Amino acid sequence: MSTKQPASGSAKANAANELNPRTTTYEFLGPPGAFLISLGVPLTTYALYFGCSEHSGGCPPALVPARISLALSDPAWWKGLWDTQAALMYLGWYAFCIAAWAILPGDRVEGTTLRTGGKKVYKINAFSTFLLALGLTSGAIYRYGPASFTFLYEKFVGFITAAVIMSIVQGVACYAASFRPGAILALGGNSGNPIYDFYIGRELNPSIGSFDLKTFNELRPGLILWTLIDISMVCEQATRRGGFSQVTDSLWLTLLFQGLYVADALYNEPGIFTQMDITTDGFGFMLSVGDLAWVPFVYCLQARYLVFTPVVLGPALTAVVVLFNFVGYYIFRTANGEKNDFRNGKNPKNLQFFTTESGSKLLTSGWWGRSRHPNYLGDLLMALAWSFPTGFATPITYFYVTYFAVLLIHRQRRDDEACEKKYGKDWKKYMELVPYRIIPGVY
Ligand code: NDP
Repeated sequence: MSTKQPASGSAKANAANELNPRTTTYEFLGPPGAFLISLGVPLTTYALYFGCSEHSGGCPPALVPARISLALSDPAWWKGLWDTQAALMYLGWYAFCIAAWAILPGDRVEGTTLRTGGKKVYKINAFSTFLLALGLTSGAIYRYGPASFTFLYEKFVGFITAAVIMSIVQGVACYAASFRPGAILALGGNSGNPIYDFYIGRELNPSIGSFDLKTFNELRPGLILWTLIDISMVCEQATRRGGFSQVTDSLWLTLLFQGLYVADALYNEPGIFTQMDITTDGFGFMLSVGDLAWVPFVYCLQARYLVFTPVVLGPALTAVVVLFNFVGYYIFRTANGEKNDFRNGKNPKNLQFFTTESGSKLLTSGWWGRSRHPNYLGDLLMALAWSFPTGFATPITYFYVTYFAVLLIHRQRRDDEACEKKYGKDWKKYMELVPYRIIPGVY
């Protein structure tokens, strides 16, 4: 008995190691990088608010260093980061999203094959959650007027704090829960270094029953909130300028473009299952803070700026910006559509492909024959179109497109490495056939 137990214990340990091998290489410059990004993302979210806001004196405010030291030494400033009402509203919003997921009908769709051979099943109702949220919001605005929906603008900092706390709680809880026996870990999140694993995400798909935290957070509470924040910005401008008819074309365009982007992601919900975040990354602080705080509160920067700096574009500039956005959208949608169809066993355009040794196939014509990440090109063109309506008075409203270019260039390299590991020499062959990374003929 006493000799058997250690043997079965070590057999279990071997099986666990086989299922969840140790991560031996770091990304993001390892634990120091993970630590700095974990601090940097919430800090930058606040900095972009205080660095570009009428409440702090402009975009950017004058005398920035003096103002920073004055604010940081003032306890009232620190207290101002917390807003109990905003925190309760945020919790209510999060609960609404969970309730909508549970109650609204939706197809059950299988994700990609896990390395255990099984597949997760997801409930698809993000788009109906979006429609419900938009319906309720429009109803309230119609009934009570635009002033009833300006609280997201007024309580912006309080909402950031609530979302950051929610993302820390989820990051810590998922990290702690990932140590239970049987959890499938992300191949890149099992280094044994707590700072790194907490950041990058240790468990691949943390779930409570059939409720999958990663896909839920990726699509619902943050992404839908981003559109609601944009709507709140339109309401704030309408309240100040005397009605919706006085809202500037630049702000309407920003709401339209960004709302369309969100609607597209939610409408094409199953498309997310082939994305890197879902197939490869664990759910840790990187995704929780990105989904819940960064996306809604940073991506709305242009709309927030336009509230206190109205810009009128006129028909000619509007046409140019619209053209930019829709060319970007066309590339983004057709490229993602070609790959999603193909990964789901369909090839309606009869695109060329080759079969790798692993059995998986890679497209070599259509958008994926022009560059290895054509979808990023479309995304970048749209990002530019979202900043143009703010004019050129400040570089801060171009933060999104600049950051996004860096993120996508880095992401493309991460994906190349991951695909090289997955496909070995077949990936090299694909790189020879399709030498450009993102922009065909250029990069
Ligand atoms: P992609 O949708 O670009 O998917 C990359 C994967 O596609 C690869 O890992 C590989 O996986 C597969 N693949 C690569 N080449 C081929 C090919 N030739 N044929 C078939 N399959 C191929 O990943 P992302 O998650 O990075 O991007 C998805 C979308 O989300 C993009 O449009 C992006 O711009 C957007 N995005 C937006 C962000 C935002 O903050 N707004 C942030 C990040 C992304 P496999 O072979 O295993 O299927």
